[in-house]
Amino acid sequence: MTAPAPDSVAGIAAGLARGDFSAEEVARRFLARIEALDSRFNSYITVTAERAIEEARRADDARRRGSAGFLAGVPVAHKDLFCTRGVRTTCGSRMLANHVAAYDATVVELLRRSGMVTLGKTNLDEFAMGSSTESSHFGPVCNPWDPERVAGGSSGGSAAAVAAGLAPVATATDTGGSIRQPAALCGLTGLKPTYGRVSRHGLVAFASSFDQGGLLARSAEDVALVLGEMAGFDERDSTSLDAPVDDYRARLEAPIAGLRIGLVEEQFEDGVEAGVREAVGAAVRVLEGLGATVRPIRLEYADVGIPTYYMLAPAECSSNLSRFDGVRYGFRAPGVSSVEELYVESRTQGFGVEVKRRILAGTYALSKGYYDAYYGKAQRLRRLIADDYRRAFEEVDVIAGPTTPTPAFRLGDRLDDPIAMYLADVFTVGVNLAGLCAVSVPAGFAGSLPVGLQLTGNHLEEARLLNVAHRFQQATDWHLARPPLAEPAGGTPAGRTQDGGTRGGGTQGAAGASEPGPTPAARGRR
Ligand code: GLN
Repeated sequence: MTAPAPDSVAGIAAGLARGDFSAEEVARRFLARIEALDSRFNSYITVTAERAIEEARRADDARRRGSAGFLAGVPVAHKDLFCTRGVRTTCGSRMLANHVAAYDATVVELLRRSGMVTLGKTNLDEFAMGSSTESSHFGPVCNPWDPERVAGGSSGGSAAAVAAGLAPVATATDTGGSIRQPAALCGLTGLKPTYGRVSRHGLVAFASSFDQGGLLARSAEDVALVLGEMAGFDERDSTSLDAPVDDYRARLEAPIAGLRIGLVEEQFEDGVEAGVREAVGAAVRVLEGLGATVRPIRLEYADVGIPTYYMLAPAECSSNLSRFDGVRYGFRAPGVSSVEELYVESRTQGFGVEVKRRILAGTYALSKGYYDAYYGKAQRLRRLIADDYRRAFEEVDVIAGPTTPTPAFRLGDRLDDPIAMYLADVFTVGVNLAGLCAVSVPAGFAGSLPVGLQLTGNHLEEARLLNVAHRFQQATDWHLARPPLAEPAGGTPAGRTQDGGTRGGGTQGAAGASEPGPTPAARGRR
């Protein structure tokens, strides 16, 4: 077994256990990096520096007393969709820009109990609706591999933070791809667990039958270590699965000889950029070299995944977001003279364009006279898509393919074309429609941009996915590649433009971190 990278969860935990450094030193190092570098990426909305130091000291005390768990003192960042007691929880929206949550999400509570140190809350598309983290009220996130490009979304802040070394691991959520897609675009390992495996209590709802919390980290090993602490039944979430939690860590090393991999032919055709196809094809050959066998499978209804998802998710969001009415939570429009005007103005001013587009589309799909034609039909398609996967998993153990059809696109490029934006999720939404688990792992580069390999597993097969991903990472070094970071420069901080001035990429050049890097192979060895 190779030693874990020093900036990984496993590496930090090992260093803390050996006494190489204290948790407080680790926290201070990450906070200093955030301070120095995050103006380029805009990955954090809120940094909880004081709290982090306090929590780190507590972890150091626990270690001195001999009562520290393995992860005690390892920092984590939380996507700002998870409620954090006493800390601003914005969901990337003006609606909640000053909202301080009254309680911790179960995920936050569990990781705190394991001794992890919270660095802050990461940026996201407004209410997690998006594929580029450009719909955030707090400005877009820039990709550490090329600050003129998107980090993906909606968990773009979590992804950019980990990729830039501003957190070793971050929580994230995936309703239609929001963990795997940014993982692919930022060169990270991102796991979307089976629906119900991780509690949704305290996770602000977007589309309740899809939403699932998970992780973005550097390696499958790091994901396994943290997932073990946050997975499990929660009586406060009515769709939580009451099934035993596997020992993800113990299963990492199992050999994968005999693993049956299914490939979907359409995922290797022309609609997918050549560099992505080549990298993913090569990754599959690595798995074959480890003893896996490959066979073609068919997902008959895969081509209706996007329309089905974009009918159902907005329908659920239109209902979930009705609670934001200017009365009970968040933003309240000033100067109104009637209750109706209060609702209308608060929602008009509090929500951004994409959220409003979804509420409108979703309300329409659910309205009397259209319900059967749209919502009802989409529900039937959802069933057929789930059946496709059920049949596939009778023949194979995992399905492999690209996570996204292209690497990171330019900031601003898809803002005027919602359909082009939605197509970023073409390979990820099926997993959410069927409630399955999937992981994206770094699989090389297209030009100088990272490419992700998606491995999809049957329900509750997280341990197998992490095992396959770990064996792949032992055989490759793509996950060790780091973006070429320039030292903090003066000038306009990237991504914090208040006027939407990133469109066309004009103002992003000031970030100064987009020097062409060394070849991918050389980078892999940094
Ligand atoms: N990009 C998809 C959407 O906008 C998925 C988002 C997500 O997974 N939260 O709905």
